[in-house]
Amino acid sequence: MPSNDVAFQRCISPACGATYDVGQVLVSCPECGNLLDVAYDWDRLPIPKQLSELEEKWRLRSEPLNFSGVWRFRDLLPFAPDEKIVSVGEGQTILQQANFVAEYAGLRPGKLFLQYEGMNPSGSFKDNGMSAAFTHAHLIGAKRAACASTGNTSASLAMYCSVTQLMKAIIFVGSGKIAYGKLSQALEYGALTVQIAGDFDDAMARVKEVSSKLGVYLVNSVNPFRLEGQKTIMFRVLEALRWEVPDWIVVPGGNLGNSSAFGKAFIELKELGLIDRVPRLAIINASGADTLYELYEKRNLRWRQGDPNAELACYYYDELDEQQRKASTIASAIEINRPVNLNKCIRALEFCDGVVRKVNDQQILDAKARVGAGGIGCEPASAASVAGAKILCEEGIIGADERVVCILTGHQLKDPTATVAYHTTDQAQFNEVLGSRGVQRASFANRAVAVQNDLDEIIRAIQLYS
Ligand SMILES: *Cc1c(COP(=O)(O)O)cnc(C)c1O
Ligand SMILES: [Zn+2]
Repeated sequence: MPSNDVAFQRCISPACGATYDVGQVLVSCPECGNLLDVAYDWDRLPIPKQLSELEEKWRLRSEPLNFSGVWRFRDLLPFAPDEKIVSVGEGQTILQQANFVAEYAGLRPGKLFLQYEGMNPSGSFKDNGMSAAFTHAHLIGAKRAACASTGNTSASLAMYCSVTQLMKAIIFVGSGKIAYGKLSQALEYGALTVQIAGDFDDAMARVKEVSSKLGVYLVNSVNPFRLEGQKTIMFRVLEALRWEVPDWIVVPGGNLGNSSAFGKAFIELKELGLIDRVPRLAIINASGADTLYELYEKRNLRWRQGDPNAELACYYYDELDEQQRKASTIASAIEINRPVNLNKCIRALEFCDGVVRKVNDQQILDAKARVGAGGIGCEPASAASVAGAKILCEEGIIGADERVVCILTGHQLKDPTATVAYHTTDQAQFNEVLGSRGVQRASFANRAVAVQNDLDEIIRAIQLYS
């Protein structure tokens, strides 16, 4: 086992605080069952004096690790030696100022930015985390890696396995619960795909059992190394803003890995004196999968500096079981009722003075159509961030003059079924895909114009509609 004492794993519960070697494969604290962080002995590491020093790495981008949008920040996630790092060029994403979408959300021109993670090699932000988890798997010599997935984690894992040929991917999906764009990736990249008769929460429970029984490396976001890679999304946002901290980060919440990683990024940057203020964090649930909203906003679940009233979550999960309630939303990437990173997420909410909101499928799809019309398409779950920002502007919690960054977590092409159904002229198709989910209108539909194969009629149609 490699040993690297400047980086280690540490239980997130301050009362426990148990530490473990980086070379151990753990998804929870063996002492108390809580989640683990990757932690560093920063005093013994070369830390930049200011964040702008990190730009130097980009100048050296002919080296693959400096080209990677994850690993050129490796001074801030130093758990692996360079020669063990696995990169496929992830993290070449953009922060786009989006005035058209800003107007929809209720922000002044110049105030809304979209962090487009759909630009990643497998088309979602998951590659940031997967690169880090895969690196750790490689570090400890794993030969098989597994995940439960609503689609994007599996696409990402399958891609890392097939590009590098270092490991075999085993993915668990709920049957009928995965968008076609994502399923097609996993199949094409050659992952062993296990379709479970159940939903994501079922698949997650099973994959944990299977991976511990068979000794298969688990890459879901309970894996603390995943979140190290996802911290870099925030580093790139800051970099694109010339290292100025925005007022708000708005992110969809599913398993809550991203929001937890963002919180950890800001906790560390603040501790290292590399930023002097932190942004506020807004996490957006889908109404049909609103555990975090319910627990944080309605029942007052709080981190309380490491002593959370965690029993509230247990009561809530018992209620879900009694009522046999399952997560249900068109935003399949966040169709999750038992978010594994709940405790890390409420820590992030405390540190970043956060809020949680929920948006229904109608709001998600309308926001998605506006994001698309603004030129950067995204999948339904991603649009929850913009729909949530709009609600927070309407409530006056986000001011029209504040600088807001919405994370677009996944690419437009991931879920063409939802998009085409929204824009269709075929009422039966609309009803089947969207009406069944309570979506009543497509306020921003761009409908195809049907014409005969006749030049005059085509010209008439163009003149009528343009
Ligand atoms: C995984 C995923 C999410 C949810 O992120 P969490 O870290 O699980 O909260 C949101 N959007 C997309 C597109 C995803 O793939
Ligand atoms: Zn512990």
